[in-house]
Amino acid sequence: MGDRDLVVVGGGPAGLGAALWAARRGARVTLLEAAPGPGGLCRTLSRDGVRYDLGGHIPFVRDDARLRWMRGLLGDDMAWVPRPVASTGRDGGIRPGRYLDQRPAPRPLGDGPVPDAVPGQGGAAYLADLVGAGFRDSRMRAYLEKVDGVSLERIPAERVVRLLRNQAAPEGFWFPRFGIGALMDAMAAAARAAGADLRFGAPAAGVDAPGGEFRAVTLASGEAIAAPAAVLAVPAALAARMLGAPAAAPIAMRACAIAFVRVNGADPLTPHAWIQCDHPEVPFTRVMETGHWSNAMVTGDATVLGMECYCRPAGDDPVWSLDDAALGDACVAALRAPLGWLGAGRGARLLEVVRLPRAYPLADLAQASALRAAVDAIASVRGVAHAPGSEVIAAVEAGERAARALLGRAA
Ligand SMILES: Cc1cc2nc3c(=O)[nH]c(=O)nc-3n(C[C@H](O)[C@H](O)[C@H](O)COP(=O)(O)OP(=O)(O)OC[C@H]3O[C@@H](n4cnc5c(N)ncnc54)[C@H](O)[C@@H]3O)c2cc1C
Repeated sequence: MGDRDLVVVGGGPAGLGAALWAARRGARVTLLEAAPGPGGLCRTLSRDGVRYDLGGHIPFVRDDARLRWMRGLLGDDMAWVPRPVASTGRDGGIRPGRYLDQRPAPRPLGDGPVPDAVPGQGGAAYLADLVGAGFRDSRMRAYLEKVDGVSLERIPAERVVRLLRNQAAPEGFWFPRFGIGALMDAMAAAARAAGADLRFGAPAAGVDAPGGEFRAVTLASGEAIAAPAAVLAVPAALAARMLGAPAAAPIAMRACAIAFVRVNGADPLTPHAWIQCDHPEVPFTRVMETGHWSNAMVTGDATVLGMECYCRPAGDDPVWSLDDAALGDACVAALRAPLGWLGAGRGARLLEVVRLPRAYPLADLAQASALRAAVDAIASVRGVAHAPGSEVIAAVEAGERAARALLGRAA
């Protein structure tokens, strides 16, 4: 018997979820993470006396057990944010609820179960059935297309269903007081305390699985980390490449450039934590005002906004191609007009632009089969499980499920 039960590749919420679950059940775990620290996309940066997350990260906690789990990790460092997501009209006016939460007045769909999508169906057809084509086009289409960058006809209906079912926080949400990264740090610390070996700055280069049977993960340094089982908590296309799966069609990724701006004066610009914005002249699609997420994130006489600009990571994309200063200027200008949230006399300074060139796989029916091929390639290898992450808590749970599937009741 070797000296390790499980190797986990990736130290975002999915990988940490797998490592923590397994270590707490007595398994001997090694986690390999390419970056110098834990968290993946769920990191919190600290700059100039303020803290901000790489994009607004609501932990969509769906049951009491998960809330207890989170409290067990964070103790009192959690705050209830009584601010549901809001959206703007073209005049900069803000209304409660996401675009997807709006419903045509006579149709009482709001509280009913969200229907399943037909496999292969596009988001446009799905929403036409749900709310009618007119309402869909006047209230929902522009936002969804601005996030994903393809027409609603091409956005898979499953994505719309997931947004409707999993990403609503109508009453508010629990949030780590020091940012989503604090939850990741706490998971990493708890996994270590339970005996897991977490290695940062340790990129996995490949997975050795002769005859379709997992044997070891190889590091870029050449070292082989052998174990009976592995959780691959990285995007499916990358995991399939690590396994040496026959070259499938490349998977296009959506990017996000986030402009963080410090606005003079402690008065918030809006009363909301997170506002969706479909306006075509506004470069960002979502804006978070971090002090509303937690008053521990912002100190001093200022309010801080993070403006998420979804785009293609390509030189010809009108947003991605702007240099940081120009993107910051464009975002601040949009806060002044057309949104009208920032008065002419109130100064604003760009803190930084964080660029995430691989934020998530482009939601496009045209690449659904390539994604499925990657998932199937991983599933065909014994001793390996993929932990897909589409949201923070869903990623943690996918990691736990993957570890449980591999280690079973023995762990
Ligand atoms: C702007 C933005 C806003 C978001 N908002 C929300 C939200 O409000 N609520 C929500 O629930 N979710 C949100 N998400 C989604 C959430 O961030 C992801 O679902 C989640 O991070 C997925 O977790 P993961 O562990 O699967 O992947 P990741 O967080 O991407 O982690 C993968 C890890 O694998 C590592 N890795 C990659 N290659 C290797 C390698 N070769 N060897 C070792 N390690 C490797 C990476 O460095 C990374 O740390 C948002 C995402 C973005 C980009």
